[in-house]
Amino acid sequence: MQYEDWHTHNSLCKHAVGTIEDYVKKAIELDLNVIGISDHFPYEYLSSEIPSLKDIPYEGYAMPTNNLETYILQLDNLKEKYVNQIHIRTAFEIDFFKHQNHILNKYLKNYLNKLDYILGSVHVLFGKAGVFAFDDGRFLNKYKEYDGNDEIYIEYYDSLQVMIKSLSFDFDLVSHLDLPKKFDKRVENKNLIMEKVIETLELIKKRDVAVEINTSGLRKEAKEQYPSAEIIKEMYYLDIPILLGSDAHKPEDIAYKFKETLDLIKNIGYNQLVHFEKRKRYFIEI
Ligand SMILES: [Zn+2]
Ligand SMILES: [Zn+2]
Repeated sequence: MQYEDWHTHNSLCKHAVGTIEDYVKKAIELDLNVIGISDHFPYEYLSSEIPSLKDIPYEGYAMPTNNLETYILQLDNLKEKYVNQIHIRTAFEIDFFKHQNHILNKYLKNYLNKLDYILGSVHVLFGKAGVFAFDDGRFLNKYKEYDGNDEIYIEYYDSLQVMIKSLSFDFDLVSHLDLPKKFDKRVENKNLIMEKVIETLELIKKRDVAVEINTSGLRKEAKEQYPSAEIIKEMYYLDIPILLGSDAHKPEDIAYKFKETLDLIKNIGYNQLVHFEKRKRYFIEI
């Protein structure tokens, strides 16, 4: 089958390498059916709204607000240029922050008619250790301010649950569902955290959004896709739709370990993956 990679970044966000076209060309070389370009939505415009964000180096997390236009324009042009070779999909990965939605939507509304889907993500915690991106290796010292890893998982799932319940936060797909394991900071009380995960999955089911199986965890210390096979099984029981994303931050990461990951999800029981176009959800057989 032809793979579809729904989660990629590019040099606009300042921590990925390669132009959008580099990703498109690599995806064509790999014979993909879809390349989803889903760069980080700006944080910049939030700094006036959420003062604590000044503590995080957001300039290196996402494109500046004044690049939004270029991003969409480039994608329009590339879609046309490569129309006979690949399906290019336009997306954003958007961070959820409490109390941001009105200002987020003010910026987002100009581009909504251009988007094929939106990834909803939590990378930043506003908790016990202040405001920090727990997936940024430069801030691993913050983990010491918690009593064990479970406190981080609880803060994370609490945020994710607020995101999923927040109807003014518009999204189609939940990203990297167990991201706090990135640096191999594992869950301590498995039952306790699994309860949180299941609560979260039930909200996902109720909101009727999909979850990505993100293979970037296989490139990190966790050495495992997000989420774990155990969580994917729970998702399968709940009939939550899924798709694959590499979270590529360089073109070579595109479709990273998709074959192994497809085997895993098929073994769990999945026989369909989600496909998005213009915010509509379709299914493809696997
Ligand atoms: Zn990134
Ligand atoms: Zn992410």
